[in-house]
Amino acid sequence: MRGLAVGILLFLSLVSVSGCLKGPQSRPSYPVRAKIPFFTQNGEYRWNVVQIETLENLEHVEGRAARFLFRPKLVNLKLEGEPPLAQFFTNKEGILIAKNQFSLKLITLYYHFEQLMKIDEKIGVYQNLSWPRTVALDVIVEHPTLGKSGGNNAMYIPDADAYVFEKFSGEHLPLSVNAGVIAHEHFHAIFNHAVLKPLKAIVTNSFLNTLQGPLDKWVLSNLFNINDPFFNNGKTGTELLALGKAITLLDIWNEGFADWWGFHYSGDGDFVLRSISQTIQRRHHNRKVEVSPSRIIGNQELESQIKMVLKKGPKEFSSFVSEASYYYGAQIADTMAFLLNQSPVDRLTQFQVIYLMLKQLTSVLASGKSVTDSPWWLPSAPLILISNSPEFEAACSQWLSLVPPKDLEQLEKNKIETCRSKSSSPNPSTSTSSVTINKGRGSL
Ligand SMILES: [Zn+2]
Repeated sequence: MRGLAVGILLFLSLVSVSGCLKGPQSRPSYPVRAKIPFFTQNGEYRWNVVQIETLENLEHVEGRAARFLFRPKLVNLKLEGEPPLAQFFTNKEGILIAKNQFSLKLITLYYHFEQLMKIDEKIGVYQNLSWPRTVALDVIVEHPTLGKSGGNNAMYIPDADAYVFEKFSGEHLPLSVNAGVIAHEHFHAIFNHAVLKPLKAIVTNSFLNTLQGPLDKWVLSNLFNINDPFFNNGKTGTELLALGKAITLLDIWNEGFADWWGFHYSGDGDFVLRSISQTIQRRHHNRKVEVSPSRIIGNQELESQIKMVLKKGPKEFSSFVSEASYYYGAQIADTMAFLLNQSPVDRLTQFQVIYLMLKQLTSVLASGKSVTDSPWWLPSAPLILISNSPEFEAACSQWLSLVPPKDLEQLEKNKIETCRSKSSSPNPSTSTSSVTINKGRGSL
């Protein structure tokens, strides 16, 4: 950390945490202008004055975009707790200044959730999530079997539909003021709505009964719930592989696109390392978004890795998934950032491209009579879906050059049309999947 960033960190570490101080007037006077740490084009965090438009209660820092809970408890998959009490003063320029570290975290988080909400409104996500978003701060996470977490982490909890920022004691930028981390966690909520929830719904719907074989039923029924019994139930290697692959791929896409979202929102390719030290980060391979094409793992290579680790047992499989999701997810994030950076679409449309691709991905994964036989369970499936879109036609060959050739062959063998087969075949097959973007969107 250099320059002004040092000042920000000093402020964040010296001022005591105050969760329960008396607040000032609760209804803010508009426009609210607040001073927060902000990632700038110089490549570091500096103090910046931002405008906030939807804040309704300054004491609890609550409004249309977000509401906060101070150290809540997770009870029956719901977060229960009190709203925090924040303290600010207004300087002579009329700018809101946080009186302590805790209030600064709250107002910074609120600002970013308001910005993320504005993006969601424009790309069609807004109406699919519930607002205000629930954010829990300074949480001490305790796992029923693993015990207390080491802290210094942030997560999205799908069952509670809430974001949790653990108590942060690191010497780096706190996660709760890190724009990239906030957007990364918010993406997990979007992925949950666009991909995981619809796939889960299929499991409980009559669709399950239309599936061809018991293998498909078994995979889908257990997709979101892997544990010891599955390994000891006499399942065959093929059954385990199908399940293992579905779990691993969904995690790779979830983490990969969360990193892309965090980078694209903040402009900070180093956002993970900015808050988490290299030691903790080691298992995540010091990931950052490189904005360069990366070699995306091929389907066969991933399958053989999964096969190997499944033989070892559920614990080994679970830690493999956790490693693979970040490592292979980063390959996809880097490649997406590179390709979209070179494309003619603006910043906001890029968010929309990814969101529409996710919805498309869900529908191709769930389509057809047989789920496990779907040729779309490939790490590079998102790239192929986007390259099929008319907006990216000109760059089609560049996009496909980054897809492992064997994976493309697999799709073509299954009569899935790619833009490569369109240009090479005068009589293309009937099955198409493409992302179509609404025109005329402005940039933020
Ligand atoms: Zn994540």
